[in-house]
Amino acid sequence: MLKKIILLVGVLIAVTAFFYFDLHQLLILNGLKGSMDQFSQWREQSPLLVIGAFFLLYVVVTALSLPGATILTLAAGALFGLIEGLLIASFASTVGATIAFLVSRYLLRDAIKLRFPERLTAIDAGVKKEGSFYLFTLRLVPIFPFFLINLLMGVTAIKAWTFFWVSQLGMLAGTFVFVNAGTQLAQIESLSGILSFNLILSFTLLGVFPFIAKALLNIIKKRRIYKNFSKPKQFDRNMIVIGAGAGGLVTSYIAAAVKAKVTLIEAGEMGGDCLNYGCVPSKAIIKSAKIVEQFQQADKYGLEKSSATFSFKKVMARVHQVIADIAPHDSVERYTKLGVEVIKGYGKLIDPWTVEIALSTGGKQTLSARTIVIATGARPFVPPLPGLEEAGYVTSDTLWSKFAQLDEPPKKLVVLGGGPIGSELAQSFARLGSQVTQVEMAERIMIKEDLEVSEFATQALKSSGVNVLINHQALRCEVRNNKKYLVVQHQEKEFDIEYDELLCAVGRSARLTGYGLEELGIETNRTIQTNDYLETLYPNIFAAGDIVGPYQFTHVAAHQGWYAAVNGLFGHFKKFKVDYRVIPWTTFIDPEVARVGLNEQDAISQNLDYEVTRFEFAELDRAITESATNGFIKVITPKGKDKILGVTIVSEHAGDLIAEFVLAMKHGLGLNKILGTIHSYPTWAEGNKYIAGEWKRAHAPEKVLNLLEKYHTWRRG
Ligand SMILES: Cc1cc2nc3c(=O)[nH]c(=O)nc-3n(C[C@H](O)[C@H](O)[C@H](O)COP(=O)(O)OP(=O)(O)OC[C@H]3O[C@@H](n4cnc5c(N)ncnc54)[C@H](O)[C@@H]3O)c2cc1C
Repeated sequence: MLKKIILLVGVLIAVTAFFYFDLHQLLILNGLKGSMDQFSQWREQSPLLVIGAFFLLYVVVTALSLPGATILTLAAGALFGLIEGLLIASFASTVGATIAFLVSRYLLRDAIKLRFPERLTAIDAGVKKEGSFYLFTLRLVPIFPFFLINLLMGVTAIKAWTFFWVSQLGMLAGTFVFVNAGTQLAQIESLSGILSFNLILSFTLLGVFPFIAKALLNIIKKRRIYKNFSKPKQFDRNMIVIGAGAGGLVTSYIAAAVKAKVTLIEAGEMGGDCLNYGCVPSKAIIKSAKIVEQFQQADKYGLEKSSATFSFKKVMARVHQVIADIAPHDSVERYTKLGVEVIKGYGKLIDPWTVEIALSTGGKQTLSARTIVIATGARPFVPPLPGLEEAGYVTSDTLWSKFAQLDEPPKKLVVLGGGPIGSELAQSFARLGSQVTQVEMAERIMIKEDLEVSEFATQALKSSGVNVLINHQALRCEVRNNKKYLVVQHQEKEFDIEYDELLCAVGRSARLTGYGLEELGIETNRTIQTNDYLETLYPNIFAAGDIVGPYQFTHVAAHQGWYAAVNGLFGHFKKFKVDYRVIPWTTFIDPEVARVGLNEQDAISQNLDYEVTRFEFAELDRAITESATNGFIKVITPKGKDKILGVTIVSEHAGDLIAEFVLAMKHGLGLNKILGTIHSYPTWAEGNKYIAGEWKRAHAPEKVLNLLEKYHTWRRG
């Protein structure tokens, strides 16, 4: 900070001195003309010294963003002639501009990043993609003040070297015009004469030309992409959506709501993974498992401690009942009523407008649409462990049906993976009586969360009976004497973990094959590649949900569904970039872990000047009444400001409590606003208000309070 202040003061002194000593008078046309004879004489006497001094002066003027660079460029022509003058002015202006750029980056970037982190991240992303292009255009068009470009570009993440060479190239034409004019200095009456209207127009056209060229290229590119296909003259539908998970359901619902003719194709179960294999069954079993734990901890509530007796079959039957109870929300009947045509079958892209459906009832149907949305989701990733297939395993796809057949929970269960899904299920099955060993390769579970949150989660899982093994790499599965073993490596030693069932929960990979993406050449990496509008390689084919990422949550899939529907149907009028700025998520272990925005490890990795405010639930009356004081709220704010950059909540109901912060962040409300909001007593939500109070206390205006104390002392007489 001190270094920054010294630099800023230095810059201010230099600029003030420049004006105080009237140096700017030297850098006007008449000043230059009047001093030309003297300059030429010096040049004859010591050419190298004059070149060096001139270069330096030019660099200083541009680095400090002082007025006069134009006069210096003319002077370069007048003093050194066209070629030499052009070389000197071109390099000096670029070096000066780059220094101004670096100073701006050093002084301003961090502060601006702290104040507008999302904006700057978006700008950085744009600069990363097309920064050179925009900089080149700005340099070419002389109506944009160069010093402003230097300062603004310094705030972005463009590389200094890129800034240097693009600036040099972009400024070359303008520099040439002025240096050339400088060679005829005597004839120049005013600066405005040099840059005539026609010349400015030509430069502007030159600057705009890359945009026109880009637009034309886009049209040509589009034509080329579609050239091997014949576009139908008429379409059967406005939109076809493949996949009826959260992404596809929301897309088709919105399309129908705005009266588009839309067909939704689903090969499996309506509702996709969330309803049938994911969020819903996992939350259902979490609830049963929590009640078992509560029985065991009944003495905490003044009751007799007991172990819950239960039938695992009934627990699993309840899980399936819960799925069945929610299923009508996503059913064919409901969507048909909403105006969506639902076809059960496997959809395959035939060309950019046509989908062939292998109907569940047998036979095939082909439909065309102007817009197609791919919402085919993801499936559990199964690691290529030797022996795994032979020994057998379950995933979140198969677990619910397989375990529903069991009378008892698996005696020995290995859960492979320390992410949210693995952690939620490991804790639940441990509570239901399985001996659970959770194997995680990384140094901690739930690694996206702060270290203390991971440690908290580990403790929570351990106290539910899970044997959490971190830094353990699964090597292979073996079956010996009818017993199954997972062989793991830890600190270069191998050992066996015996199991009856092994659950793979090491991540989910997008469904990318088998339905025409490869044939159409739609780019895939780990997901379908789309632009910010969710358009794939073919601008009429969109993608939404887990198939796109970057988050794999139901609410994000639904959020993207809106963009896919609106951009797909109305994109020719106006397109919307997906807004990923405020995305919450919750891991439903007990206590829950909820997050929105940055956590501390993000703030550190982004080099932010941040503050952490904490509130412990041990301080909350409601938590005390429920004997559930384990947990905390952690809010990240910029130093000295109440703007919320991110929140982590670890507690009962954390997933619900986070909503207030999501709303605040989305609408730019700071902690002061939360503090000024009435929360009913005694609720968990009061924790949100109390953490805002903690922040306020830490930022109390000490000087004002001291004065107030004196005032009250005086009032007492
Ligand atoms: C155990 C578990 C717990 C989870 N818990 C949560 C949670 O608590 N909160 C949360 O937000 N998220 C959770 N998730 C993630 C959530 O389930 C997904 O993010 C969500 O389902 C993504 O929706 P989607 O529409 O992208 O894909 P999906 O729900 O996977 O839907 C895609 C659909 O497309 C169909 N399909 C695929 N190919 C074709 C084809 N060619 N033709 C026709 N149909 C096709 C599939 O059959 C599927 O039904 C959990 C996931 C799991 C596995």
